[in-house]
Amino acid sequence: MSDKTDKPALVDQFGRTVTYVRLSVTDRCDFRCVYCMSEEMEFLPREQVMTLEEIARIARIFSELGVEKIRLTGGEPLVRKDILSLVRDIGNLELNDFAMTTNGSQLPRYAQDLKTAGMKRLNISLDSLDPEKFRRITRTGRLQQVLDGIDAAIEAGFEGIKLNSVIMKGRNEEEVMDLVHFARDKGVDISFIEEMPLGDISDHSRDETFCSSDEVRSIIEARHRLIPSTDDTGGPSRYFRMPDSTTRIGFISPHTHNFCGDCNRVRMTVEGRLLLCLGNEHSKDLRGLLRRHPTDDDPIREAIIAAMDLKPREHHFTTDGDVQVVRFMNMTGG
Ligand code: SAM
Repeated sequence: MSDKTDKPALVDQFGRTVTYVRLSVTDRCDFRCVYCMSEEMEFLPREQVMTLEEIARIARIFSELGVEKIRLTGGEPLVRKDILSLVRDIGNLELNDFAMTTNGSQLPRYAQDLKTAGMKRLNISLDSLDPEKFRRITRTGRLQQVLDGIDAAIEAGFEGIKLNSVIMKGRNEEEVMDLVHFARDKGVDISFIEEMPLGDISDHSRDETFCSSDEVRSIIEARHRLIPSTDDTGGPSRYFRMPDSTTRIGFISPHTHNFCGDCNRVRMTVEGRLLLCLGNEHSKDLRGLLRRHPTDDDPIREAIIAAMDLKPREHHFTTDGDVQVVRFMNMTGG
């Protein structure tokens, strides 16, 4: 077994150490966001989905291999039955950070229990503050439910709350400033994400809606001075501060400011496929191994270490509307 004081076990062939794992706990979601899924989605049959015990086992093995940060995502993690038991199991591991990405719809019910179970930080997706537009983007979502969820999360007292907004031309570009002011009023951070060409979506052509981080930044800079910050939350956001607010503004720019050079992340899909890069298909099946070795962790540990050699140097996204990876984001785990 590796000890955290040993030299890192998870180092790829380019010298990058993997310290951060995102675990997808379900491909299901109560929303159908237009950039993430098609309207009619087929979800995985139950036997292909990792059990919560299998996900907890993988989390423990990663932690023993030196991983310091785990994020639960999906699909919508809070629609997975008994999710709190998994949160409790992972909350007991020796980690620096434990976070979840959620659409917020179930937070009025779950926020306090998540905090009690050991969750430290939440990313909550919010693309619009206009109920009609929110419905148009999420196809099924109710804005008020998510706003109540954000308030419940603030009330619960997490170490950090960040909003995530995917900005699209002709859809929600004009809401950038309102979203910044909302984050400032609530005292939370906000990151703006460039839409990625993952999954063959039917709603729009991604070359027409693409809005770069630089464009979003100049919209904000018309009203607020943005001071570059060295803050690093271990993920792909580049942060800025405003002189008169505690709110940090992040930009996640997979197209225009490729963040591969210091990538410290891997992901596991809900089928137990270890993905070495968001924008490539390099992967290793862990589910089969877990089920063949229900009590012996060594084969799984060895497979994870060996998979580091599969981690590609970088992803190559284009903005010409072509789908680069056929996996929808709900399969990958955002
Ligand atoms: N259901 C949760 C949620 O809504 O946050 C977690 C899963 S979702 C796939 C995670 C994040 O990925 C969300 O912030 C979402 O906006 C983002 N996302 C999904 N598809 C995307 C795409 N094609 N490009 C950029 N971001 C995307």
